[in-house]
Amino acid sequence: MKLEIINLLRCPRCEKADPRGKYQIMGDYNNEKIFDGHITCDSGHSWQVRDEILRFHEESEPLELYDQLEIDESLVSKLPDGVDESDLNDLRVALKRFIDGLDRDAYAVSGTMLLFSKLLGHTDKLFVMFSPDENELRMIQEVTAKNGVYDNFYFVRHDGFVLNPATSITRISLFNNEEADLRVYLSDVEQGTVLGKVGSKFLVLG
Ligand SMILES: [Zn+2]
Repeated sequence: MKLEIINLLRCPRCEKADPRGKYQIMGDYNNEKIFDGHITCDSGHSWQVRDEILRFHEESEPLELYDQLEIDESLVSKLPDGVDESDLNDLRVALKRFIDGLDRDAYAVSGTMLLFSKLLGHTDKLFVMFSPDENELRMIQEVTAKNGVYDNFYFVRHDGFVLNPATSITRISLFNNEEADLRVYLSDVEQGTVLGKVGSKFLVLG
């Protein structure tokens, strides 16, 4: 969890307050990252960071060593309906077109992120991944490490986006219907901004 990223996030228990103050950081960290430890908001709410996953979650497990994670390849390789293996390269190219077209440095992402992290090539952009499922986040860590893009990813365990209203970070929803500023999805018809043709579908940005 890069330190500059933390200030983009809203403490999930500070619903009304504007928590744009700095978080206090404790534990194992350097100028760039927190590896393990806690962050505490101005109102004293404390959140755990475990193996670079920020747990914005009330019932996180106590600090303990992770077991070896079994990567569920069937999840990593799960493709959207209407897309098969032979379409993967088209999907990769279309996603690259999307990423290259982004004009900011950092983005908040939710939705089908495993596939995204699997297909993503080299990029200078930063992505903050939000998921309530810690195993999914850990699998994304593994996949992005394998693909050499780990440093572009930050991980927040939370159901939905929790962003500081004072920041203008763009929210992206991937292959999902969540509320977001940018939605990337597969469509049977040409609509929105077409990023590419994938099998019989269009990858569109709406
Ligand atoms: Zn708080």
